[in-house]
Amino acid sequence: MIKLSQGTIYDPLHSPQSRVGDIYLENGQIVAAPIQINTPLEQHDLSGKIVMAGAIDLHSHIAGAAVNLARLLLPKGKVPKLTPLPTTWDTGRSYAEMGYTCAFEPAIIPHNARHAHLEMQDIPIIDTGGYVVLGNEDYLLSLIARAASPQQIQDYVAWMLAATQTYAVKVVNAGGIDAFKFNQRSLQLDEAHSHYGITPRQVLQRLTSAVHNLNLPHALHIHASNLGVAGNVNSTLATLDALEGLPAHLTHLQFHSYAATGEYGFASGAALLADKINQMPEISVDVGQVMFGQTVTLSADTPRQAAMQGFAHPKQPQFLCDAHGQAGCGIMPFRYKHHSFVHALQWAIGLELFLLIKNPWQICLSTDHPNGAPFSSYPHLIRLLMDRSFRNDCLQQLPPAVQQYSQLASLTREYSLMEIAMISRAGVAKTLGLSNRGHLGAGALADVVVYEPHQNPEVLFSRPLYVFKNGKLVVQNGKVIHSPCGGVQTIAPEFDPQIERYLTPYWTDFHAQALQGFKIHPDELSLDGQRAIYRQAGRN
Ligand SMILES: [Zn+2]
Repeated sequence: MIKLSQGTIYDPLHSPQSRVGDIYLENGQIVAAPIQINTPLEQHDLSGKIVMAGAIDLHSHIAGAAVNLARLLLPKGKVPKLTPLPTTWDTGRSYAEMGYTCAFEPAIIPHNARHAHLEMQDIPIIDTGGYVVLGNEDYLLSLIARAASPQQIQDYVAWMLAATQTYAVKVVNAGGIDAFKFNQRSLQLDEAHSHYGITPRQVLQRLTSAVHNLNLPHALHIHASNLGVAGNVNSTLATLDALEGLPAHLTHLQFHSYAATGEYGFASGAALLADKINQMPEISVDVGQVMFGQTVTLSADTPRQAAMQGFAHPKQPQFLCDAHGQAGCGIMPFRYKHHSFVHALQWAIGLELFLLIKNPWQICLSTDHPNGAPFSSYPHLIRLLMDRSFRNDCLQQLPPAVQQYSQLASLTREYSLMEIAMISRAGVAKTLGLSNRGHLGAGALADVVVYEPHQNPEVLFSRPLYVFKNGKLVVQNGKVIHSPCGGVQTIAPEFDPQIERYLTPYWTDFHAQALQGFKIHPDELSLDGQRAIYRQAGRN
């Protein structure tokens, strides 16, 4: 048993105020204070230290074919000091060295799921999990076009989650990636797909309902249409209305928050969206904050990546492809520049969203790694949220028009440590429906992070004193000392097994791989017998 004594505990799920107290770890879990201790006790005096649960990243591209292709497209070292895409080994260790103990790969194309799992298995220390991308594959679009029953769609969604051993469902530019193959360059919410005759609104509504009725722990994870397009705030607002009160998660909201007004036809729509979300408690979001510097953008949203042709930095051909007829893939190296009005305004818009969305339980910290910035920039982002004068100093370095077309300069809010614990831990776990993560109560996984207080939050969050993963000390003084296997978080939804009567011939006719080979068996997730599988049945 381990006793963490007298630390200052930030555990927003259980208390809105920090408190000084003890935490006990045993058999990989946090346990209640024992009445008497019969086992050897390892004790750490944490007086004056900050204690939080392990942080969780709910949207970070860390594994799978697209990530691997991006690594090939921009190998480490090609640009000096460039590390936007660490190896699997460095991914787990770098996350752990910031106090993260779990990260979710948000874009698993069904036929690439096995590859994504192999890479996730290779990521040490942190637990992982994946979201399966649906809503652009012929099978589902045909079901919707044929007005299939809600039960048929639910069975298909649940079967896909089981077959790909993923945790949640994501939709990317609903129907729009597929429409691109039929030469439609974009698909607006009520615009019909030229082949199926159905609209993104229908795809979104059918998927949102299916996920809701299946009682999945995480609501539908939505990458809305018109990613990065000036004026897209209107389609994002319309998308929120289309959900008709059902819960959903809007991802990398910053890339969907642009007005098309002003001298440059590009202005912040963050206030409009924040007002809307402040009235929709059933909605959660992550930001997809942009930071300045070199990165690589990668997305299943082929039409939007294709539209960005010519903006690559360094100048080199981008990668665009179809992904097994189930989605797409676009990859392009990209540099966000301080002196670019557009990039600087994107930076400001992300921060506006953080500061204008009032309830920290609704908003999750993300850079959509590596799209807005590498995840290694989180401590810097936290400083921008916690320190208004630092934020305004940074704003002063940017093109003056940024202040004209966003209200960032006037926002006085500063995040507290407790609010940081919400947007990086407790709220993320709540958004994901994970009851055993993101908090420090009995029954939670023994993922605990200890920080030295520091007046600069960037320093504080860059270098934890200790990180415990499943009750084992893995990071000390900001450095990994032990790299155990991470686990994988999956879900086991119920479905009618008869669905395979329809899927088997479809797979035989239209896919390169037979159905039984496509399905991933749970044994494949723990080949070496060391990797834990955390199963979640549904939201209770
Ligand atoms: Zn993403």
